[in-house]
Amino acid sequence: MGPGPSDVNPRILEALSRPTIGHLDPAFTDMMEETKALLQYAFQTSNRLTMPVSAPGSAGMETCFANLVEAGDKVIVCQNGVFGGRMKENVTRCGGTAVMVETEWGRAINLNATEDALKANPDANILAFVHAETSTGAQSDAKALCELARKYDCLTIVDAVTSLGGTPVLVDEWGIDAIYSGSQKCLSCTPGLSPVSFSDKATDKISNRKTPVQSWFLDLNLVMAYWNSEGPRSYHHTAPVNSLYALHEALLILKEEGLENSWARHQKNHEMLKAGLESMGIEFIVPEAERLPQLNAVAIPDGVNDAEVRSRLLHKFNLEIGAGLGPLAGKIWRIGLMGYASNTDNIKLCLNALGTVLNESGYNVDIEAALKAAG
Ligand SMILES: *Cc1c(COP(=O)(O)O)cnc(C)c1O
Repeated sequence: MGPGPSDVNPRILEALSRPTIGHLDPAFTDMMEETKALLQYAFQTSNRLTMPVSAPGSAGMETCFANLVEAGDKVIVCQNGVFGGRMKENVTRCGGTAVMVETEWGRAINLNATEDALKANPDANILAFVHAETSTGAQSDAKALCELARKYDCLTIVDAVTSLGGTPVLVDEWGIDAIYSGSQKCLSCTPGLSPVSFSDKATDKISNRKTPVQSWFLDLNLVMAYWNSEGPRSYHHTAPVNSLYALHEALLILKEEGLENSWARHQKNHEMLKAGLESMGIEFIVPEAERLPQLNAVAIPDGVNDAEVRSRLLHKFNLEIGAGLGPLAGKIWRIGLMGYASNTDNIKLCLNALGTVLNESGYNVDIEAALKAAG
């Protein structure tokens, strides 16, 4: 129950262990086509350029920036946690200029400040932001941010690593131009793959670049020679065959449950956990309307030793919860309820384990009452 990787559904582990076949075997390329269609469903898009990058979420991030940002581009980067800072690094390393819009950690991105930056920088051509900030548990209004970007003629790059599958991500309806996610959060797949999707406008910018993409491996113009079914499919790199079996299975599971049902399950389980934690006197750091149901960031009660509690949870109860990052280190815990791990058994395990460990460390809680509050 940390911030990812989440528990992997046994069906996915079984898929992972199937015999490895050639990455150009027709049975495999058929599965690649199905995977692209399943990803279009997960992202709610008809973008043709939708596929998994053969590396973790960070590589999906880098794919978006390396392909869309050229020397001289100005990018407005919204930051309200750790991952927005990595976007800035990406822009700079691609030779672009990053204009930062800072929002207090633990809050959704400030829309007024973002509009001010867009107004003040008419030469900016991209707006980049993190939809679900895993470092703080805050969710930003991606729809409103994309509207702002369009109003000021900017393309959007959106980090949906933690949101995809857990809360609505509507790529076409919101008009997102470039988006990346990760296999190991709410998709509950093994780590190591990054689904991405690009609008026609983004694809046009990529095909009309003045300079080649600096990264050979992440250059979508080359990667698509393998992933595009329309041309003669040719070798680019050896696809991670078994990992892709796993992702295919994870996406089938999501489709079987249905996106709306998955979002509703994440919300319902968040509310159960919240009721239990609040009954113990543990408080959330993100205002309710900006909260991610799949990543519960709570303040560590005064006088409680962060590292000791997490270590006891792990060693006595086999339960992992996440620590705070950056300025929130030592101040918060991040309790994940992602994908397959978002279930009532885990909520009860967490309330019982955390309650027991807190009682041992002198912070007294009523475990029975917490379990009852959770329902
Ligand atoms: C986890 C995460 C990433 C990075 O994904 P990796 O698979 O660890 O490379 C990027 N952005 C956000 C918001 C994340 O939560």
